[in-house]
Amino acid sequence: MSDADTTPTDASTDSFEPVDVFSGEPMDLRPGADDCYKCTTCDTSCPVAEVDDDFPGPKFQGPEQWRLKRKGDDDIDPSINSCSNCMRCDNACPSSVPLSQMHNEARGAFVERQMEKLSTEYVRNRILANYRTSAWFASKVPQIANFAMNFGPARWVMEKTLGVTAEREFPAFAQQTFREWWAERGGAHVENPDKRVAYFHGCYSNYNTPEVAKAMVHVYEHFDYEILVPPQKCSGTPMFANGMLTDARRHARTNVEELAAAINDGADVIASCTSCSMALRQEYPELFDITDIETVAQHTYEGLEYLRINEDLRGAVEESEVDMPDMAYHAPCHARNQGLDRQAVELFRDLDGVDVEDVGPSCSGISGTYGWKEEKYDKSMQIGEEMFEHMEAGAGEEGMTECPTCAMQMEHGTGYEITHPLEVLQEALTETSAA
Ligand code: SF4
Ligand code: SF4
Repeated sequence: MSDADTTPTDASTDSFEPVDVFSGEPMDLRPGADDCYKCTTCDTSCPVAEVDDDFPGPKFQGPEQWRLKRKGDDDIDPSINSCSNCMRCDNACPSSVPLSQMHNEARGAFVERQMEKLSTEYVRNRILANYRTSAWFASKVPQIANFAMNFGPARWVMEKTLGVTAEREFPAFAQQTFREWWAERGGAHVENPDKRVAYFHGCYSNYNTPEVAKAMVHVYEHFDYEILVPPQKCSGTPMFANGMLTDARRHARTNVEELAAAINDGADVIASCTSCSMALRQEYPELFDITDIETVAQHTYEGLEYLRINEDLRGAVEESEVDMPDMAYHAPCHARNQGLDRQAVELFRDLDGVDVEDVGPSCSGISGTYGWKEEKYDKSMQIGEEMFEHMEAGAGEEGMTECPTCAMQMEHGTGYEITHPLEVLQEALTETSAA
């Protein structure tokens, strides 16, 4: 939607009047909206607006909707549900307008007030948003779950009744979760009060790819860190994207409480998923008012980032060697928002035995649960097309990324196997120390 399509803001008729849009909560974002000078940079950076003619774009979803708010007129435009929460607009805005905060709050308000709670869309979105619950059940019977989730007729029924696309294969559940493995090995093998980290593994590394979480443990113990694995719930990432802010707040309370206790014990927080670190660092303090939430945000790092800051990681990698296929690297949008988009490529440039090539700045298109929705699947694949083409045009035979859902999309679009940078680092450090 262009500026001409919306009501213009006129200073003479638009005198500032704080609006408590969500009654009882101090959520007036009008000052942030006033920082927007309508340059449209956010709109041109939005991957959904590029493929979806019905999506008005981030400027409308953010500052324009907020500007137009008046008491008694607080309906949210339903198109907010088409925003995938990739957060690229946040990164693009030269005026630091809190776009994703506005989108998250608008989506939360829409779901709470305007979405029919018995609708298929609400039920589907609630199930997708609460992946941790489904994964917990599936992890009790992983073999049966892996068969059932990808059984053709069951997938067809899921698409027809719930609107979960049958085009994608469900990721397999591990036979043993990371937390089960951690308990079986007796927890940390290193005690070191001077170098202590609390690992936020998130849902996917626990239930689906414990090999990533184990790589985190091996790499950090290689550098003599004591690792704490506090009780934790979902980071909230899929809940933000689906407007389930009540669920997200409940999970955030536990996470903040547990991580703050670990910080109090001298730890910093590390995450292997860039969307989890993004949630803890940015979305939590933007959306919730929980004791110690700022402390947790300030002490949270992505796993590779923390080692680059505190260790001679480059030196360790330069002395190492691996025997791995060359890799096409995709930087997740949420890694870009944290300024981490170049770190894996720069780090592995000096590693003998593997070439890592950046496939460019495009969005993978899946954005967590967005690409799992039947009505969004084609758009998700259209967004991902540029990344697929670059992967296939490059020399890499496999893919690499930090985000588990970007990994799903990369694999789905190209058939490549996908590795996490921590797994490459583990291979480099353990192969070298074993040699
Ligand atoms: S990029 Fe920022 S300043 Fe420009 S239109 Fe979007 S919100 Fe407004
Ligand atoms: S978060 Fe992503 S999809 Fe949503 S408006 Fe911003 S750029 Fe577009």
